[in-house]
Amino acid sequence: MRVCFPKEEQGDKVMSILPGNVPKYLDLGVEIGIESGIGWSLNISDEEYVKKGAIVVSNSDLYKTGAAIFRSQKPNKSDVEKLEKDTVHLSFLDPFNEKELIDDLALSGVKAVSVEMIPRSTRAQKMDALSSQANLAGYSAVIAASHEIGRALPMMMTPSGTIPPCKVFIVGVGVAGLQAIATAKRLGARVEAFDTRAVVEEQVQSLGAKFLKIDLGETSETKNGYAKALTEEQIELQKAGMVKACAQADIVITTAMLFGRAAPRIITDEMINSMKPGSVIVDMAVSSGGNVEGSVAGQTTLINGVKVLGIEKLAGEVGESATMMYANNLYNFFEEFWDKENRVLSLDPEDDIIAGCLITSGGVVVNKQINQGA
Ligand code: NAD
Repeated sequence: MRVCFPKEEQGDKVMSILPGNVPKYLDLGVEIGIESGIGWSLNISDEEYVKKGAIVVSNSDLYKTGAAIFRSQKPNKSDVEKLEKDTVHLSFLDPFNEKELIDDLALSGVKAVSVEMIPRSTRAQKMDALSSQANLAGYSAVIAASHEIGRALPMMMTPSGTIPPCKVFIVGVGVAGLQAIATAKRLGARVEAFDTRAVVEEQVQSLGAKFLKIDLGETSETKNGYAKALTEEQIELQKAGMVKACAQADIVITTAMLFGRAAPRIITDEMINSMKPGSVIVDMAVSSGGNVEGSVAGQTTLINGVKVLGIEKLAGEVGESATMMYANNLYNFFEEFWDKENRVLSLDPEDDIIAGCLITSGGVVVNKQINQGA
């Protein structure tokens, strides 16, 4: 069996395999095919992969001979056309928003696996690319803000004067938010955070940050720990409760997301206008609708003297670390489902991880959540 790894498009610095992963796959008894130039974003040559035992294959052979295709980006239309029936295709797919792509993958008879749908269970942690990338994105958000803010983050008492600590307000305390808190704290900032899931209060405090309490009435989470959408009334209460925290903050980082739905719009013009000129907002939800009024994907927008950063693919800002984590996630998936005896990748729909992340198989969309629309 051959597992193939296409080159990611320019712009995506997270790759699906590093030379160091190749021998681990070979030890399982599979061949590794890579597309020439796969390591471009980290300046890793094809030779480095070949030295470890990989074979360089042309783009068309990759699709013809790969029983499994592992990558980071979702395939485009022409990639889907090249895929052979029953090939396993594993990548990010954004399945709730890419209905046409999912239908095309189903029609082509491919077994399409969406890495963002891998359940957040203990057994699946080693394959959880959503977490590995969100963790690094949270780190990168703080580093990006620290470059833009024009001041030091820690308090400094010097003979020339005292620099007060930077105040950072983090909205949304999932994986990315927790790492953003930890990073800002390590850099010496004073950190405050808010989430609609009250259970995170203790986690925020354990990182040495302050949890902003806003009484929203009853809020809940799904069985997987995802936040449920707030009512209009609750969103208004949240906004009112956050005005002061925003006004006092030098840096606001928003990470608020709703699984399978557009991100809630929670930072208003009024809040931005209340912030000091030179302050920075990082909208980490910019690719899924945006938490911040006026944020633009891929751009920095100046709103009333406040810089609003709409950086997409924040994990890619630390591409080497993000690739290392993502490539390990993919290898761990392969190892978990590799059937040594029959020498196939066995995607049993009865397995809870496969039931969660297998989207298409046998010519149809098989995923319950996608078929139910959430
Ligand atoms: P996410 O990216 O879906 O959302 C980020 C955060 O935004 C969440 O904490 C959410 O509660 C918050 N949010 C949503 N609407 C908000 C609003 N209006 N205002 C403020 N905050 C808002 O979350 P995630 O990082 O993917 O984590 C989701 C859940 O999965 C968490 O409960 C996390 O602990 C859990 N998780 C479990 C595992 C595991 O057990 N293996 C691994 C990773 C994550």
